[in-house]
Amino acid sequence: MAARRISIAGSTGSIGCSAVDVIQHARDTGAGDFEIVALASGSNVERLAEQALLLRPELAVIADETRREELDARLSGSGIKVAAGTSALNEAAAMPCDRFLAAIVGAAGLESTLSAVRAGNDVAIANKESIVCGGQVILSEAQKYGAKVLPVDSEHSAIFQCLGDGRSIELLTITASGGPFRTASLEEMARATPAQAAAHPNWSMGVKNSIDSATLMNKALEFIEASVLFDMPPERIDVVVHPQSIVHGMAHFTDGSVIAQLSTPDMKAPISYALGWPDRIPTTVNRLHLSQLARLDFEEVDEARFPAIRLAREAIALGPGGRVVLNSANEAAFEAFTNGSCGFLDITRSVEDALERFSSGSFASSKCETLEEIAEVGRYGAFLASDWLERARKRAGG
Ligand code: NAD
Ligand code: MG
Repeated sequence: MAARRISIAGSTGSIGCSAVDVIQHARDTGAGDFEIVALASGSNVERLAEQALLLRPELAVIADETRREELDARLSGSGIKVAAGTSALNEAAAMPCDRFLAAIVGAAGLESTLSAVRAGNDVAIANKESIVCGGQVILSEAQKYGAKVLPVDSEHSAIFQCLGDGRSIELLTITASGGPFRTASLEEMARATPAQAAAHPNWSMGVKNSIDSATLMNKALEFIEASVLFDMPPERIDVVVHPQSIVHGMAHFTDGSVIAQLSTPDMKAPISYALGWPDRIPTTVNRLHLSQLARLDFEEVDEARFPAIRLAREAIALGPGGRVVLNSANEAAFEAFTNGSCGFLDITRSVEDALERFSSGSFASSKCETLEEIAEVGRYGAFLASDWLERARKRAGG
């Protein structure tokens, strides 16, 4: 494989650390020649410094400016340049590289991804919230500046691997594990704690992605992500619950053929694919032995307990602002749930209410074509969800 220059935004998170493992393994085995241009994280200065000393990037960026001195101290004498703040992050994203791994969590990752794309850097994108909020902008700028956008989310990586030349596609399927509450009753879900919701049965992920997987808001975001990345209308995207998380995505063709991608559930597989594309990088991912799998199950999403996919369809129907509101309302409700100020079922309820109020409000026709517009509608969506949650607390006498 040709040498690759890589930058990672969100290097200290779950995806970021898996990417570091992929790169280390490829280096150790002589399978890939990676040069690291920039590493960036939010506030985890200890891990960022550790990674920097291991991978020797040109630049290490900490978004939280209050941690700058600590990063300076930890990297002093290493020859690695240090920078801090959001604008430094955006500048790092624009440094020439072969692949920019967008692995920041939440819509906070959108600006640096756009900055990478506008510099003509190919982007390996894990940060689904930024596609949900600004996917159209990312893709049109990518086209303008000659940058590729390669999916990292396992379902989208799977579809990307199944698409072939992209012709004669009838339907796309993304699979959902069903999360920790797949078989739980509504009463059990109403009482669920953040720790229970974050305990994913198959995947090890950051806390946001894990809680989103429990509500199926993760699948709602991925549904929108698929519609944007593959330019597919919602009626041609299907979600199927597959508790074993072995089949990640499928492409159905007009002749009745279906091509699926399988692997054991480990994000190192799709990360390595996006970093190495069009080549494949050898990884430590556990190999799949089909004869040892008792079975593969597939079932429909129970929309009564999990309204998230219906909300994704409604958000798409509402246009670009609807997608931003679905995401920002969910980010606000996620925060409220994890800090103990709302119940588990309130997450999707508040998102549903936010979409409803947005549809008849003054932002409904917003095209969300600029970062400013996206941020403004995002703040409105977060306000709507927080407002609903506040009223719910009062109703409950809290
Ligand atoms: P995480 O919470 O483990 O890590 C997030 C990273 O982003 C950290 O490095 C953190 O320091 C950084 N960060 C957070 N806020 C920031 C800010 N304002 N500025 C700069 N950096 C900031 O999250 P994760 O699970 O690794 O997920 C990252 C993204 O990948 C998410 O969008 C998630 O939906 C997506 N994703 C994750 C998985 C998974 O298995 N974890 C799978 C598919 C997609
Ligand atoms: Mg996924």
